[in-house]
Amino acid sequence: MSVIVRPTVDKLREDVRAAVITAGDPGYAEARTVHNGMIDRFPEVVLRAEQVADVVAGVNFARDAGLELAVRGGGHSAPGFGTSDGGMVIDLSPMRTVYVDPATATARADGGATWGDFNYATHSFGLATTGGIVSTTGVAGLTLGGGIGYLSRRYGLSIDNLRSAQVVTADGRVVTASKDENADLFWALRGGGGNFGVVTSFEFQLHPVDDIYAGIFFYELESTRDLLHFFAEFIPSAPAPYGAFPAFQIAPPLPFVPPDRVGDTFCAAIVHWAGPLDEGEKAMAPFRAIAPVVAEMAGPMPYPALNGAFDALFPKGIRSYWKGSFVGELSDAAIEQHVTHGAQVPEVSATMHLYPINGACHSVAADESAFAYRDATFAQVIVAAWQDPAVDEDRIRWVRDYHAATAPYAEPGGYVNFMAGDDDDKVQDNYREHYQRLAAIKARYDPGNLFHLNQNIRPAA
Ligand SMILES: Cc1cc2nc3c(=O)[nH]c(=O)nc-3n(C[C@H](O)[C@H](O)[C@H](O)COP(=O)(O)OP(=O)(O)OC[C@H]3O[C@@H](n4cnc5c(N)ncnc54)[C@H](O)[C@@H]3O)c2cc1C
Repeated sequence: MSVIVRPTVDKLREDVRAAVITAGDPGYAEARTVHNGMIDRFPEVVLRAEQVADVVAGVNFARDAGLELAVRGGGHSAPGFGTSDGGMVIDLSPMRTVYVDPATATARADGGATWGDFNYATHSFGLATTGGIVSTTGVAGLTLGGGIGYLSRRYGLSIDNLRSAQVVTADGRVVTASKDENADLFWALRGGGGNFGVVTSFEFQLHPVDDIYAGIFFYELESTRDLLHFFAEFIPSAPAPYGAFPAFQIAPPLPFVPPDRVGDTFCAAIVHWAGPLDEGEKAMAPFRAIAPVVAEMAGPMPYPALNGAFDALFPKGIRSYWKGSFVGELSDAAIEQHVTHGAQVPEVSATMHLYPINGACHSVAADESAFAYRDATFAQVIVAAWQDPAVDEDRIRWVRDYHAATAPYAEPGGYVNFMAGDDDDKVQDNYREHYQRLAAIKARYDPGNLFHLNQNIRPAA
């Protein structure tokens, strides 16, 4: 009779150069946490990977020890996929170098880099690519789900700019995925989330983006219908340098807000123009014409400054909950639901955003990547973030009620990166006709479903 010998944490400590942290070790309290303060899990071991070899050792260890494996990039997953009760975390946050090659206008980002790291590195060359709207979000998780951001109307989703990825697969191999190598894996990585392995680096195409012109406009709530009708008509066919989305916002105490309006709820437009800077002021004109503007801040700024502009609203440890859906046509009936529920936004860090999925996002064919909603017009997210645990129930209810009220006017699926922990049953809707192909690729690269802390695609039988 053969006896299976499971590797021990002591053996892992001998095998890797990276820090191996268990309960009782200094740093464990921090190492077990993720961005969402509602997630309170106690992994058995956290490996702080510093290089690819650490990741390989970590994957082999988790698999052979039979531990649940959580892979953490930026740690922003709202359901807390970057940590695990009793399992192993491979935390890539020490791996955040971004190497820029100006000759080819490409950048290679390590698997633990944030968009802040990325933009800092590329901006010194006057270059950028599509990332998210907050700088502390991980390049990894955001890109693997698709990647929606300020520049997506101009340059497509983050995945549309991905040229290759280096991946550690469930059997501990290090492979390259690109259009020419492991093309099936490359297809799946572009939208399929963290299902297929640990991505240790991402190679992106960059574009000439230096300073951009940005504007934030607050309008009275009674202008909500005008604002949303404007977005329904203007943004789908607006010139590509425009990135803009509507929002609801409780006014924070910022210099551009009249002091007597701080704390009031507004509907808002967050706009940027990534075209010639001297056209920026003119580009803001349509937004000033929507309705009387109560408060505004507009002007040129470096692209990384825009990317960090909302960071303070989402500090690490803030409690959060969200729900998302794709929207085709923004109908009058849906707008009425936004009028009702958006007005009840409960926190300065709570909002509804409708990100445009149009412009360059639509110039990529539907079957070119795993991202399944190329035909959507918007990605809707309703998010609440708050500090006081006593209001958990109330904040979650606001998100759920708002989401439920708009669901009849939205697509069955949503953006995988905007799914809540209770959205497991939506995975097939989120991937639509791509699900079976993803399941077949999953069976090839991860038949044992080692990478299951994600919007999980089950390996095909
Ligand atoms: C404040 C905030 C703002 C956001 N803004 C945007 C936005 O503008 N646009 C947008 O598209 N999304 C946005 N998101 C959603 C975001 O894209 C997802 O939460 C995403 O999963 C976060 O990636 P991460 O690496 O930070 O998270 P993590 O929690 O580390 O990881 C998320 C998922 O990816 C997997 N993963 C992480 N790293 C790797 C890796 N190296 N290899 C393989 N799998 C990995 C994890 O296992 C997990 O399943 C935002 C989220 C927050 C909290």
